[in-house]
Amino acid sequence: MTADFNARATRVVLNFSHRCALNCEWCYVPFETTRAQRHVVTGIVDRIASLRFQTITFGGGDPFQYPYIRDLAERAKAAGLIVHIDTHGKSLTQSLANRQLVSKTIDLIGLPLDGPNSNVHDDMRSSSGHFDIVMRRLRWLNSIGAQFKINTVVSRRNVDSLAELAMHVRDLAPWRWSIYQYMSLGPGARVSTVHSLELAEFHSAISRLREKLGSQNESLIEVSDKDSRRLTYPIVHHDGTVFVHSKERVDSLQHVCSIFDPQARQAIDEICGAERAAAVTRYLAIR
Ligand code: SF4
Repeated sequence: MTADFNARATRVVLNFSHRCALNCEWCYVPFETTRAQRHVVTGIVDRIASLRFQTITFGGGDPFQYPYIRDLAERAKAAGLIVHIDTHGKSLTQSLANRQLVSKTIDLIGLPLDGPNSNVHDDMRSSSGHFDIVMRRLRWLNSIGAQFKINTVVSRRNVDSLAELAMHVRDLAPWRWSIYQYMSLGPGARVSTVHSLELAEFHSAISRLREKLGSQNESLIEVSDKDSRRLTYPIVHHDGTVFVHSKERVDSLQHVCSIFDPQARQAIDEICGAERAAAVTRYLAIR
């Protein structure tokens, strides 16, 4: 696989990689760096805008665990970026302040849902009670008219429940359902024997859920197998270090540069190609 060098990366994922309230055993984020410093993260947001990216995705250890996420999101929005935040939902309190933030500033908010019930989902997320929290948050987001996305990681552990999950997702009516094949990556590689799923098995499960959802819901689904993210969007840790999913090895991230390097955009463009077509469409109607 090679990057499409005719197209530049348009989105940056900014990961808070210090800690997370969940402990998903397959998580790829290496939670061992120093604390996020507000002035550094603010500088990263400004830098992403000045390097002419179009979209910022705040993710990693939950962005809502930082009280200043509101200021960061508003700053990104004011700089002209599409603002996307992925959250596990625990820190996303259903407060008036968050309601206003979601309504006015966040263009797309993603929550995880890995199974049709607490048995499957909580097992995947290694967190008892998380399914109930996510369902409450999704219904709240729906009720306030937010554009929300459901993120599902598919591994050998939950693949058999995917078709049943499809019925829940249809009823929750998200803006998009992003379905990711489990990747043996970073710290998450230690559980690859439990979660690894053959490509053919992944796609066969996707075919079954497409049948279940019917053609009228085709545009809802966005599917990413474990190879599709290589050399696409840059991932910036909260200290400014830039990585990309490696071309050479599916189970590793490749260091690119610091976002603050004078030649950062050139370094990113030399390695990262275009965003996946399916992911591009999720932002098209937002602009
Ligand atoms: S996958 Fe997301 S929610 Fe789970 S530990 Fe990693 S950052 Fe936290």
